[in-house]
Amino acid sequence: MINSHPKFTILSFGILLFLLGCQLLPSQAQSESSTIDTADRAAKISILVFTKTEGFRHSSIESAKTLLQTKANSRDWAVTFTEDSDQFNESNLAQFNAVVFLLTSGDVLSSSQQDAFENYIRSGGGYAGIHSASDTEYDWPWYGDLLGAYFDGHPPIQTAIVEKSDSDHPSNVMFPASWEIRDEWYNFQPNPAVNQNITVLLWLDENSYNGGEMGADHPIAWYQEFDGGRSWYTGFGHRDELYSDNEFKIFQDHIVAGIEWAAGLEDEAGLPLQLTIFSYLPTVTN
Ligand SMILES: [Zn+2]
Repeated sequence: MINSHPKFTILSFGILLFLLGCQLLPSQAQSESSTIDTADRAAKISILVFTKTEGFRHSSIESAKTLLQTKANSRDWAVTFTEDSDQFNESNLAQFNAVVFLLTSGDVLSSSQQDAFENYIRSGGGYAGIHSASDTEYDWPWYGDLLGAYFDGHPPIQTAIVEKSDSDHPSNVMFPASWEIRDEWYNFQPNPAVNQNITVLLWLDENSYNGGEMGADHPIAWYQEFDGGRSWYTGFGHRDELYSDNEFKIFQDHIVAGIEWAAGLEDEAGLPLQLTIFSYLPTVTN
């Protein structure tokens, strides 16, 4: 009796598994496919966040990544963080709605990686640059044109007044007409304000701080349609606290909206655009 009990149990368990297997196979297949569908629907946009530095490395990279991971969770982004420039090949880049150069610096891409990124933008891809993204790739003129300018020095960190332009871009609407904030204020060359293709989102009031060298028209955030794709840049973002403290929610919402715009999630009127990769959104026809 003692030995037959385990045998009976194993046999019964085997029969049970067989019966369950017959029953479960079709529904298991259904649940697997519905999981895939759900995953596709959940990721509204897919973002590559690139943080490689070959020059100055900002300590704020870590708090910025934490912020973007939190926003990715709450706003249904699929996000990939990388320091690896080998991610810049055409088949890999094609997976992403936007590539964010987050606090990059120096010469970060090889010439073949640069070619792949140019083709990505020409295929309708999106670019968002944050702070020292403009202190990146000085010997790649196309990148300077995509961003709209290069970094041209900065005075010590200090408080300045930021003024909102009359653009109604989604990355602009959260700002009051005039906002006082402490950060590291870049000068740029050339001045994006004279580029007819660029729309300035925010201006710096050079009378409100020391060391501005661009005069009355000193842009600090802007966007453009460029070479078949979308480009958005903000000069904000030196200090760790900007990414982590609730006090700077305006800045955090600003970069989230800029990234989503670069990814093609909304046009200027807030209408959904048809995305290349995730085509579930309604198509907007002109
Ligand atoms: Zn900085």
